[in-house]
Amino acid sequence: MSRSYKVLALVGDGIAHEIVPEALKLLEAVQGAYGLDLEVMGPYEFGAKYYADHDMRSGWDPAVTRELLFEADCWFKGPVGLPEYLNRLPGPYLPINQRLDMDVYANVRPCRLRPGVDSVLVGREPGDIDYIVLRENTEHMYVRVGGQLTRGGETELAVDNYIQTRKGCERIIRYGYELARSGDYKGRAGAPDDGARRLTCSAKWGICRGDNLFKAICEELEPGYPDVETDYAWIDAWSYWAIMRPGYYDVVVMPNQYGDIMSDMSGAVQGSMGLAGSINAGDRHCYAEPTHGSAPDIAGMGIANPTSMILSVGMMLNWLGDKRGDQRLKDAWRGVDAAVDRVLAARRVRTPDLGGSSSTEEFGDAVVEALAPT
Ligand code: NAD
Repeated sequence: MSRSYKVLALVGDGIAHEIVPEALKLLEAVQGAYGLDLEVMGPYEFGAKYYADHDMRSGWDPAVTRELLFEADCWFKGPVGLPEYLNRLPGPYLPINQRLDMDVYANVRPCRLRPGVDSVLVGREPGDIDYIVLRENTEHMYVRVGGQLTRGGETELAVDNYIQTRKGCERIIRYGYELARSGDYKGRAGAPDDGARRLTCSAKWGICRGDNLFKAICEELEPGYPDVETDYAWIDAWSYWAIMRPGYYDVVVMPNQYGDIMSDMSGAVQGSMGLAGSINAGDRHCYAEPTHGSAPDIAGMGIANPTSMILSVGMMLNWLGDKRGDQRLKDAWRGVDAAVDRVLAARRVRTPDLGGSSSTEEFGDAVVEALAPT
């Protein structure tokens, strides 16, 4: 197969400048190892600092047009945003609101305790924790439907509306069932404790009407997936159970804002935010980005863990492999996943978040070295 794929790379803010180059290095190595032809476009600059540095006229390199984002087979970005610019920048960092405009409705955020990583939960060993937070990505609190009342220069009232639709609930829940079936992005299919393929539906029904709808739609869809066990947990209770019995969970589907919060918590559950990769996936488009932010506390020090960015890019290749029917891309993801595990298991090259003293670059080099077709 000689197909080539266009992959667009965007940098971002803070540690993005350190972790994105490691992902690019990895993509180069993956091409050789798996016989892929990837046309990497960029990396292009964008972000809060870029915006401030360009007289607040443009938040991205002019080469990055909306058309370019749609033309790419897939794309990835480092984290974006810096606290010093919060609410001070008048416009967006990108030409579009990517999640809505590209309709990438599924935010897939795995949480796996990997070999060589000490758990923050007592007594948990690698393989004991292996679940996916599946966050709905286009509805709920982040749709910016609302407004504010400003009188005499003072903002007195702000309203955000919480939106859930039948279409939005149904497609993300179906995505969750399919993820549980495929075992994609997991170390092993099923929940670690009992091997059951399980979809946990989590929200705050009984209080929020949108969440009543979310649960009701899951109940409607449940009979269509008899091979996957369906489980229901209030989101507040789930934040407790995720810590107390993480091995019970396989795929956990939840509305947007809950997923945002629970996936950060899951960053801790897997040992470091620096291990937390993710993709924003739709039926036609996908972009990858780490779960975490720009980590200003360590930016510029060369010590950020690039695993999150590397895994995100690997997951993106798997999505593309599914969409284009190209097994090489899916094998490449499994190869990247295994290479990360090999480096972590050896405990020789480790960034400070995992108790080591290696640099971002040294870790990225070690993953490239460990990459071999499986
Ligand atoms: P953060 O996720 O950047 O950092 C939280 C903690 O995790 C910090 O201690 C940081 O050092 C650590 N951490 C994060 N990534 C790491 C890595 N790869 N290796 C080692 N340690 C890592 O959260 P924050 O400080 O609240 O946010 C900083 C900025 O990022 C804010 O401006 C926020 O708006 C933005 N942000 C962007 C995104 C995104 O682009 N998707 C997501 C979240 C936050």
